[in-house]
Amino acid sequence: MAGACNGSSKNTESFVKIPPIKFSKLFINGKFVDSLSEKMFETIDPRTGEAVARVSEGDKEDVDLAVKAARQAFDHGAWPRMSGSERGSIMMKFADLVEQNIEEIAPLDAINAGKLLSHCKAIELPVAVKILRYYAGAADKIHGTVLKLSKGIQGHTLKEPIGVVGCIIPWNFPTLMFFTKAAPALAAGCTVVVKPAEQTPHSALYYAHLAKLAGIPDGVLNVVNGFGETAGAAISSHMDVDKVSFTGSTEVGRKIMAAAAASNLKPVSLELGGKSPLIIFEDADIDEAVNIAFNGIFYNKGEVCVASSRVYVQEGIYEKFEKKVVEKTNAWIVGDPFDPRVDQGPQIDKKQFEKILSYIEHGKREGATLLTGGKRIGNKGFYIEPTIFSDVKEDMSIAKEEIFGPVMSLMKFKTMEEAIKRANDTTYGLAAGVITKNLNVANTVSRSIRAGFIWINCYSRFDLDCPYGGYKMSGFGREFGLDALNQYLQIKSVVTPIHDSPWH
Ligand code: NAD
Repeated sequence: MAGACNGSSKNTESFVKIPPIKFSKLFINGKFVDSLSEKMFETIDPRTGEAVARVSEGDKEDVDLAVKAARQAFDHGAWPRMSGSERGSIMMKFADLVEQNIEEIAPLDAINAGKLLSHCKAIELPVAVKILRYYAGAADKIHGTVLKLSKGIQGHTLKEPIGVVGCIIPWNFPTLMFFTKAAPALAAGCTVVVKPAEQTPHSALYYAHLAKLAGIPDGVLNVVNGFGETAGAAISSHMDVDKVSFTGSTEVGRKIMAAAAASNLKPVSLELGGKSPLIIFEDADIDEAVNIAFNGIFYNKGEVCVASSRVYVQEGIYEKFEKKVVEKTNAWIVGDPFDPRVDQGPQIDKKQFEKILSYIEHGKREGATLLTGGKRIGNKGFYIEPTIFSDVKEDMSIAKEEIFGPVMSLMKFKTMEEAIKRANDTTYGLAAGVITKNLNVANTVSRSIRAGFIWINCYSRFDLDCPYGGYKMSGFGREFGLDALNQYLQIKSVVTPIHDSPWH
């Protein structure tokens, strides 16, 4: 049984089941195949720590085969050569198929990542379908420009697909990350090799199957399951991969950039970690602010790159805020992510679970006040109580480092200038939030925080048209919006003399 936090408990035994796993091999050149070594690895159910399925383990040689297929499909195949509208209509069909199979795919992310089944079904998969449709619609709107050049020459630019793209993705949003990268790359006319996180390969393999059914030609979309140091590293150092799009930790982002530099100097885009501040001014509606702060950190059990893990509250409302935010944890149910009553599932795996508990111990040792939570729940699986620390100082590890778990750090501030300075005192720059009724304060804060995404009076509200990415050590490049397409295109200038113009 996975218990509920703060006293109440709930028997969730009846929800413990493993959904059918249809696909567990690698997907290369339009076929499901075993890895060359025939090695397998286990995916784990974070509710119990037990195995879900055995999956083929791809290594460098399998990446070579996938890249070869993608290279062939790019250099000689139909996909980059067909019109944008043809590509778009195949991608629309792909989106329809994902939509029709939500009931079957959503449990794969829930069982692999401990994500709430209800969120996968109602939020993440429907948003993935929207992402596919958004870029399907953009595929025939990729244009160069006519250039007005010096006397005697004319010119234009062409926007051409960049080539073979390696997509290396993390485990916290397996479906969204897959389409955030694959959809714009496909729309641009690229071919792709996706390496899902080793914890969460099942939905990616299902998408490969649907891509084939939709009519995406063989070799255009390949999926190689495997580990970072082997399959991931083989992609980032491959001489025939033209670009790597990576989402994950800052530490691995560095390695990917180094591998790209040491091989063929391929461009990389990096969506990395964060330690995002949320600044709450004392004119805020306090109940609304509590809700925003709460969901900002505890959504998806804190395994969210933009999580509002540093909450700065102005001194006039600090004690009241503390009381209310702690009260809110009483109604927050931690348990089986397949149970529709549950708000928070287990952390992804043992490593992440232990890392979070160790940060909580650090927080206590460094002198922060533990207001609530701080312990594991039950004796099986990777459940952790929603945890709130108060009196946190910027030099404590819980304020500086990305915990990637359900741990909120509360800090008190006096003035706007002080809040801005402290909020910016981080190596990260992914996102931030400000809650106030004062438009001038909102404008000043949003322009002063060095981060790629700022929410005013809300948090984690995304729109496909809104480019998303980091400042500082949170990475570079933008996903979503039409800006994302540019990451998978390159610009060519074409110039030619013009003879006998009637205007010259
Ligand atoms: P991770 O960096 O450990 O792994 C991410 C991916 O990289 C996985 O597929 C992994 O197998 C692969 N990888 C690992 N080592 C590699 C190597 N040497 N070469 C090539 N690939 C390698 O990250 P994670 O633990 O899966 O995810 C958590 C991190 O991701 C957090 O830091 C979080 O902030 C970040 N994240 C960022 C965003 C964003 O949009 N900015 C979104 C989600 C997660």
